[in-house]
Amino acid sequence: MSGARRIIPNAVPHLAGNEWKYLKECLDTNWVSSAGPFVERFEREVAAYVGVPHAVATVNGTAALHVALLAAGVQPGDEVLLPALTFIATANAVAYGGAHPVFLDSEPGSWGLDPEKAADFLSRECVIKDGRVVNRSTARVVSALLPVHLYGHPCDLDPLLALIQRYPLAVVEDSAEALGAQYKGRRIGCEGLAACLSFNGNKIITAGGGGMVLTRDEDVARRCRLLTTQARDPGPEWIHREIGFNYRLSNLHAALGCAQLEQLDGFLEAKRQTARHYGELLAPLGGIEPFGEASWARSSFWMYSVLLDPAAYGDTRRLIARANDEGIELRPLWRPLHLQPAFAGSQAYRIEVAERLYARGVSLPCSVAITPEERERVARYLSEARR
Ligand SMILES: *Cc1c(COP(=O)(O)O)cnc(C)c1O
Repeated sequence: MSGARRIIPNAVPHLAGNEWKYLKECLDTNWVSSAGPFVERFEREVAAYVGVPHAVATVNGTAALHVALLAAGVQPGDEVLLPALTFIATANAVAYGGAHPVFLDSEPGSWGLDPEKAADFLSRECVIKDGRVVNRSTARVVSALLPVHLYGHPCDLDPLLALIQRYPLAVVEDSAEALGAQYKGRRIGCEGLAACLSFNGNKIITAGGGGMVLTRDEDVARRCRLLTTQARDPGPEWIHREIGFNYRLSNLHAALGCAQLEQLDGFLEAKRQTARHYGELLAPLGGIEPFGEASWARSSFWMYSVLLDPAAYGDTRRLIARANDEGIELRPLWRPLHLQPAFAGSQAYRIEVAERLYARGVSLPCSVAITPEERERVARYLSEARR
């Protein structure tokens, strides 16, 4: 096959370890469903890697967010503050619990929830009434803050966590894209009440599908475990005191996850290598601003994204479409959620940066196994697309 015609995918799984072996173990031992040794092992090993005491595996990252928000005490009719610039799953999980998302802006350095604008929203738009934060324009209780570590880059957690000294809010982190990233030397996992991971096919490691709630709070862990197993009481009787969900991860998926976790450090190194190489290739072109790292951050570089100067590269949508026609899978950034028809009625507060990032941003191919020649072809494409 000619090098020029091969498709360079945006990001595909890399299954080069014990995946076959562990899957075969599941089949040989008859443990294929929502119980089995790999589920517990996967939970234990991810918790140990991140450095948190409790982990609850779920069918996917969206389910993890759903139960984590419920365990954090988010009630139907409440509001949850989250960045507009994220994958729709973040807001869907809020809506599943009958709560309403309120979209806030991103901060230009980390592309994560802007702590200053979040503070402004709370001080100008909300009041504290009977020990709860109330949004003055909707009269709803604001019960949680849901920051997202976008594309593997940690958001600025400390000023966000400082807000909960003043406002009674639960912090649930959407860490779906950031396994292996670090904030001020600490692994992204759980600085707030809970954090959620995803093991979807294109995440940094995959279980073929899967998610996990991480927490330091034993009650939150117990609550998530209950909610993910149809709220069945422990013990020999099948007693259900409330309506739960069938959200447990299967042993087959956990087996894949365990095999992938063994390779995580190598994957992270490969992603850094890709970021470094793209940085070198793209710097001479001009008009390209890579999404690098804030001084306090070590990104997982789950995605390698750049901002293109429209004066040099024209309309990013057209550039992306043309690249895809040529077999180079470029992706736009997440469409900010206040611009999504599904959330058209939601409140959005002073969103400017997220829209600017969305208009100029492009994610480049960055599979773990991408070759230097493929990165060179991507850079050549961008150089030729320059006017
Ligand atoms: C992938 C992702 C999710 C959802 O994970 P699934 O496993 O696909 O349900 C949630 N939030 C963000 C930011 C994601 O990228």
